[in-house]
Amino acid sequence: MNKHLHTEGIVLRKTDFNEADRIVTVLTRDHGKIDCIAKGARRIKSKFCGRLELFCHIRLTGFQGRDLVVLDEAQLITPFPQNQSLEQHRILFTIAESTHKLIHAHQHIEGAYSLLTETLEALRDTPKHDPLLFAFLIRLLTLTGFLPQWNQCALCEATLNALRPIFVRLGDAHAVCGDCRQPADRALKTSVTKWINYMQNYPLADTLRVHASDEEHNEVGHWLKEVLLNVLPYPLKSELVSLR
Ligand SMILES: [Zn+2]
Repeated sequence: MNKHLHTEGIVLRKTDFNEADRIVTVLTRDHGKIDCIAKGARRIKSKFCGRLELFCHIRLTGFQGRDLVVLDEAQLITPFPQNQSLEQHRILFTIAESTHKLIHAHQHIEGAYSLLTETLEALRDTPKHDPLLFAFLIRLLTLTGFLPQWNQCALCEATLNALRPIFVRLGDAHAVCGDCRQPADRALKTSVTKWINYMQNYPLADTLRVHASDEEHNEVGHWLKEVLLNVLPYPLKSELVSLR
């Protein structure tokens, strides 16, 4: 049942295994998220040296073993992004962690790989790190089906739009209308709603041209944090929002 793989991917996670091996989790273009074992990768003269670091973009060949893909070869397409600021590091780690947690092993989510590569590329050029992270998460949550239906009230199914304020339900971050809201549910500003819609539906580069106030920025950050808390079994280790 050996299946040969020849694809490219981005390293999301690495763990030491046995005495000299390394297990890496890779989001691939053709096979979704896979766990690979690189035998002897931690030896100084290993053929994998420097190629299986976080966020390395690699071309890989290997075969599907019982649990893991056994790597034959990994060629570097783009190395780990150099000269990153602390901010860029924070964003990178949040991207890696959320991608790892939202996509299951062997799950192939259409569009997730191109979203990831496009986001990593944009991170090199844009100073708008948080808006990029927001747009990435909103899209990834949409692709994986985890973004709560939020153009529609979760209770009465009324259509919610810019004319009708949206409230975020305490506990599960679902959207509800003004008639169904409980006192503790929080109103989302119309401008925030528009911005979220924009990030969900327009090309990444366009969404980075939107100018948002600090308040809008914080609101989106909080909302995303609640959505992720509801979706994931435990909170992200990386820091999602730097509040302004
Ligand atoms: Zn309602």
